[in-house]
Amino acid sequence: MTIRLDGKKLAHELELRLKEEINAGLPKVGRPPGLAVIRVGDDPASGVYVSNKEKACSRVGVRSSVFHLSKEATNNEIKAKIQELNDNNLFDGILLQLPLPKGIDEGILLKEMLPNKDVDGLHSYNLGKLLKGEVGPRSCTPAGVMALLSRNKISLEGKRAVVIGRSILVGKPMALMLQAANATVTVVHSKTKDFAHITKQADLLVVAAGQPNLIGEEHIRKNSVVIDVGIHRITDNQGRSRLCGDVRFEELEPLVQAITPVPGGVGPMTVAMLLVNTVSRWQEHCGLSFSLGDLLL
Ligand code: NAD
Repeated sequence: MTIRLDGKKLAHELELRLKEEINAGLPKVGRPPGLAVIRVGDDPASGVYVSNKEKACSRVGVRSSVFHLSKEATNNEIKAKIQELNDNNLFDGILLQLPLPKGIDEGILLKEMLPNKDVDGLHSYNLGKLLKGEVGPRSCTPAGVMALLSRNKISLEGKRAVVIGRSILVGKPMALMLQAANATVTVVHSKTKDFAHITKQADLLVVAAGQPNLIGEEHIRKNSVVIDVGIHRITDNQGRSRLCGDVRFEELEPLVQAITPVPGGVGPMTVAMLLVNTVSRWQEHCGLSFSLGDLLL
């Protein structure tokens, strides 16, 4: 019987744990964790993601504030906002919602953030910590995948893992985290020729290509574990709009040991890990004991 890896359920469990951590620390430090979200421009998908993050913050007791800059905002204006938030002690975390409008250099802006407020784990310093195996804020999506695997007791030691995609947001940190968990990892990407013979050897396949319905029966090994990071809104044959991933879920579900659905798999875990990073920053900034290390390996 195939296991559906339920990210919605685990995200809910993590939220309860975080709520307890906040309730325990609040009387000692007198303020809740604070998250500042910077949104630039009017990308509608970003609007939905930001609103989901705000709702999640309010469920666990994180105080969130959204700073919405116009799509004409310059690099310097965004930089100035980041510096202002770096200096504001009420904010433990700063999130720069991606993607940014064309012409804005996200790399320069991410570097402007204090590494100890980088709740997306995308600052070069924090990516370096991941590379060296030091605890720190972790990229939310791959950290969410690791938590989902661990919660479902899917062991990685000695397993052959293949990651499709090599972005800084997902593919690269995912490969490092799997390697740290003692898997043997191969990364394939858009320039890899005929990757099916590689993915067919995988005990664990993580798909983060950003291509709807890319992966099917011809790419996988039977009884493997498949994690679908992709998320797309598509219109089906009957003109109805629905969400799908990079994986053909209905085709693969009967063939595999475990698989994430879209929606309800990796997506909710990404938001949960943003909360984990924010609460752990708050614990550090306020001198509270650090209790979430098992989620930030
Ligand atoms: P990206 O576009 O930055 O990177 C995609 C990667 O996939 C690239 O490295 C590219 O080389 C590779 N790729 C593209 N087409 C390929 C192909 N045909 N064969 C093999 N490799 C291919 O995207 P990203 O930011 O890494 O995100 C990937 C997907 O995950 C997107 O659909 C995105 O929306 C989704 N995403 C979901 C969450 C979530 O919480 N569920 C979070 C982040 C990203």
